Amino acid sequence: MKAAVVRAFGEPLVIEEHPDPEPGPGQVRVRVEASGLCHTDIHAAHGDWPVRPNPPFVPGHEGVGLVEKLGDGVTHLALGQRVAVPWLGRACGRCEHCLSGWETLCEQQINTGYGCDGGYAEKMLAWADFAQPVPQGVDPVDAAPLTCAGVTTYKALKVADVRPTQLVAISGIGGLGHLALQYAKIAGATVAAIDITDEKLELAAELGADLVIDARKNDVAEVLKRHGGAHAAIALAVNEESFAAVNAGLRRGGKLVMVALPAHGTIQVPIFDTVLNGTSVIGSIVGTRQDLAEVFQLHAAGRTRVIRETRPLDSVNESIEDVLRGQVPARIVFDLGTAK
Ligand code: NAD
Ligand code: ZN
Ligand code: ZN
Repeated sequence: MKAAVVRAFGEPLVIEEHPDPEPGPGQVRVRVEASGLCHTDIHAAHGDWPVRPNPPFVPGHEGVGLVEKLGDGVTHLALGQRVAVPWLGRACGRCEHCLSGWETLCEQQINTGYGCDGGYAEKMLAWADFAQPVPQGVDPVDAAPLTCAGVTTYKALKVADVRPTQLVAISGIGGLGHLALQYAKIAGATVAAIDITDEKLELAAELGADLVIDARKNDVAEVLKRHGGAHAAIALAVNEESFAAVNAGLRRGGKLVMVALPAHGTIQVPIFDTVLNGTSVIGSIVGTRQDLAEVFQLHAAGRTRVIRETRPLDSVNESIEDVLRGQVPARIVFDLGTAK
């Protein structure tokens, strides 16, 4: 089978032939149909974060495909069933976090395309308990971005506890942001969309943003404040300054939800303003299996639109460059043979 492999941090990925992986107990082998390119895969390939993967590895945590082999003990998935294989490859199921509905915080978790090989391949392994069934009628090419960009932003809006009378700022209308915007609208909020490219600002308007802010030309905090300040700001842009800008644009009691992970990112949070204004800074990491099930449910009901462009896996290195230049329509999805 073909796979795109990170051999060394910061080097182009290499397309290689690998033997088909054999599922161990509790695992399944998935014939991948579609695999999304999340900005996290670029951070992984560059070794951007304090906890790094170990090259060589196959990135990708938006893989969707058909189960083609069952490991020992797997009884609840069937051959031919379509599943998605998210970032949360497995969690222990026994710790305080797992037992309290926060499996995404499990310290024993293994992350797909980071701690084990991921979806930039024709075939991949998944732990059956964490392979999410994709409902009938959901196109695998749509399911791929929903598997990370969708679940992550859906969860971020839950964490922000967004309500219909609120102003929500979505900073960065890329793969994550274009879905965040839609979930904020579904929650009934008034949405301010912020980006720095014309295409993304146009996309935000098309997806129903109430307010579109070009961060190249405007003082984002000032515009948000003019509209009363944001009850919640979801920080999705891979840029430190953008976090500080939306934090300064919160209204009293507002919440900054940090989601993007710029390399070595830090922001200065002014103590006086934070205390006097009663604002919060919250980190949010992907979502649970239940969150992903809800994301698929919304999509199956026709309530979200996934903006994506399909490309062959061989284009992986150009595709990464295009994402870094902001030259893609929200999400690139590698088409690994949806017609097979
Ligand atoms: P992306 O590249 O598709 O989108 C980023 C968007 O931000 C682009 O539209 C870009 O034009 C815009 N942008 C850049 N600078 C900006 C600025 N100063 N102000 C406003 N917008 C700006 O990336 P993505 O795949 O959506 O991922 C975004 C980030 O989220 C990455 O750092 C990724 O690693 C992270 N991420 C986090 C989680 C999590 O669970 N916390 C999950 C997935 C991805
Ligand atoms: Zn991701
Ligand atoms: Zn656990």
